[in-house]
Amino acid sequence: MLYSYFKWPADFKEMVPGSNPGGGTPCYHFRMDSIPLACPQCHQPIRPEWYFCANCGKDLKAKPRPVGVWMQIGIYALSIFLPPLGYWPGIRYFREDNPKAQQIGMIAILLTTISMVATVWIGYVWLQGYINAMNQSLNGLGF
Ligand SMILES: [Zn+2]
Repeated sequence: MLYSYFKWPADFKEMVPGSNPGGGTPCYHFRMDSIPLACPQCHQPIRPEWYFCANCGKDLKAKPRPVGVWMQIGIYALSIFLPPLGYWPGIRYFREDNPKAQQIGMIAILLTTISMVATVWIGYVWLQGYINAMNQSLNGLGF
C-alpha cells in the first residue's frame, strides 16, 4: 500500500514542485519514481512490480482486480438479481486505477440502482394489486 511510505519522514525531501496554473503557492506532489524500494515492514529491498514482499510477505500494493468477461458477468448478475449487493463490487472496482475496472464498477453501480428502482416499483404495483383484491373481496362479503 502506497500510504505506508508516507510514514517515513525521508520521503518528504523527495517532494517536487508540481504544476502551478493558478500562479499562487506552488503545489507539491510526490514523485512516484522516488518511492524508496524497501519493504516498509522488514526494510528488505523490494522491486516496484512486486505485489508483496518476498522476505516477510507484507502486501505492497493492491492487486489489480480481475476484469475478465466471466468476472464482469458475475458482477452484473449480482447487480441485477441481488441489487444492494451489487454496490459492494461496484464501488470497489470504481476506485481502481484501471479505467477498465472503473467502467465495470460504474456499470455495476448503475445496474444495481436500476434494479433497486425496478424492485421497489414492482413491489409497489404488487401491493396496489393486493390492496385492490382485498377491497374487492371485502366488498363481495358485504363490508
Ligand atoms: Zn518485508
